[in-house]
Amino acid sequence: MTVATEEHVRRLPKVELHCHIEGASRAGTIKELAQANGVTFPVDDPADLYHFTDLNQFLDIYAVVCASLQTADDFHRITYECLEDAVEAGVRYREMFFSPGFVIKLGVPVSTVWAGVSAAVIDARADLDIGCRMILDFDKPSGGGHALEMADFAGAQDRDLLIGMGADSVERVDHRPFAAAYESAGRHGLKRTMHAGEDGPSDNIALAVREFGCERVDHGFRLLDDPELTAEIIDRRIPLTVCPTSNVMIANVVPDVASHPYARQRELGVLATLNSDDPGMMRFDVADEYAAVVGAFDYSLEEMEQISLDGITACWAPDDEKAALRSRFEAEFDQLRSSYGLPARNGAG
Ligand SMILES: [Zn+2]
Repeated sequence: MTVATEEHVRRLPKVELHCHIEGASRAGTIKELAQANGVTFPVDDPADLYHFTDLNQFLDIYAVVCASLQTADDFHRITYECLEDAVEAGVRYREMFFSPGFVIKLGVPVSTVWAGVSAAVIDARADLDIGCRMILDFDKPSGGGHALEMADFAGAQDRDLLIGMGADSVERVDHRPFAAAYESAGRHGLKRTMHAGEDGPSDNIALAVREFGCERVDHGFRLLDDPELTAEIIDRRIPLTVCPTSNVMIANVVPDVASHPYARQRELGVLATLNSDDPGMMRFDVADEYAAVVGAFDYSLEEMEQISLDGITACWAPDDEKAALRSRFEAEFDQLRSSYGLPARNGAG
């Protein structure tokens, strides 16, 4: 067992599977876009934009962010910039959400959103040292009709750029009407995931994996409430994309990371990956999250390297790409260890 220092784990190569472009946007950029698009910006200093203490305040700020995004160029800019920021946090591959439900209501078509987002992914792949694919999240409160429309739109796009469909926003809504959208997504060959068991019950997780064909679950905070479901998730190796600090700051379901069930989930054998959720709005990225769990759970360096590798196992990249990522990560682990005067790994992983 090797002690994991905060600086070391921040520099580990990472995969991130739960991050929203809107929540990853830079406050300074949102101020410029708000001004350009005639949207009232609620604070003088952009550094003050992302201050919130609960979900309602978070959603108010989220509304300002979305209202400021109107053209394909706007979406290109926030997508590209948040991938630049991801590289800084050590992310080598990311599967990232975009949630057009809010801007659609403001009159921006999903095709405009996607034109900007997809071009930014292509540009970032070429310019930056990062791989990326997108997941379209439909807006749960907008209902089953919106969900089906989004599944059909996503199904018609290039699968190498738009790999999956998910769902987010308020969880305490009737989920049954989403069955048709998930069925359509499956027919189109899209991967499926859903925000579930974040501030809602574990029943939503059960619905996702038993009825909607979800291959991953976003958050899954309440999973351990249902031991039978937990056993099934472990048995079927269905990954969770866990965001402990987001659960403290946004959902307010635990007082601190040390009280989060993440460590217990991993101990039981759940493939629980580590992610940031909304790094821009939280001012807390996935490197911060790696440092936070080391502090909260006393994880060893070996455990942190395993968490990093679990991100590769849980991602939806093609097998050859996953194998290349794994080799690269293992080489980087040893380079990092050597730079800190530590022995190489013992073929673990
Ligand atoms: Zn999320």
